[in-house]
Amino acid sequence: MQLAKNLYGYIWQGQDNNCNSYLISNCLDQNRHLLIDPGHIKTKGTDEPALELLLKGIQNDGLDPGAIGLTLLTHCHPDHIEAASFFQTRINTKVAIHRAEADIYQQMGGIADLLLDEGDLKLGTQESVLLDIIHSPGHSPGHITIFWPKEKVLIAGDLIFYHSTGRTDLPGGSLAQMKQSIKRVSSLDVDWLLCGHPYGHPGVIQGRDEVKENFQFLSHQMMIEP
Ligand SMILES: [Zn+2]
Repeated sequence: MQLAKNLYGYIWQGQDNNCNSYLISNCLDQNRHLLIDPGHIKTKGTDEPALELLLKGIQNDGLDPGAIGLTLLTHCHPDHIEAASFFQTRINTKVAIHRAEADIYQQMGGIADLLLDEGDLKLGTQESVLLDIIHSPGHSPGHITIFWPKEKVLIAGDLIFYHSTGRTDLPGGSLAQMKQSIKRVSSLDVDWLLCGHPYGHPGVIQGRDEVKENFQFLSHQMMIEP
């Protein structure tokens, strides 16, 4: 589903667990696309065809999945990363993940082409799209959020959901870090807050006021000091 110019969201609609995926079109050389969090190939509980649905969604938007040149992974959990290897082996899509998730990614059989650090990520030789990679630990040690300042888009992975946050009780999780990470990104100027899961809400929070309301709700709920 197209959200804005060059911005697409694939909201998970199944019953079983899977993540939302997002795509920034035409931002790489030869008009190739960037995909964020491709999700499962098939869901774990009930074998829902997650990847097939994602590919269909991309095609329905008039985009060619074969033109995905780079996959960014917000963090190394199976429900976000599993299909990355499909794109990598079938169409030679590069995979990027934060340095602090590299070991676990490798242990899970993944091969990262690019290890990310916090900072700017310039895409394409024209460098027409500039992303800000923000290290946002709490849900996992090398979790990132991806800020696109020009379009005021924050791709939040499992840091923030609608009126909720990612779990901190999984290996490498930390509630203190989660609070710190949320506090940090809450000061950004965001019109589109794109969450990693559709928990009781599609996970696409649109509009400055709605985004602000969500941050305020979380700050209050988690007792984050202003
Ligand atoms: Zn996760």
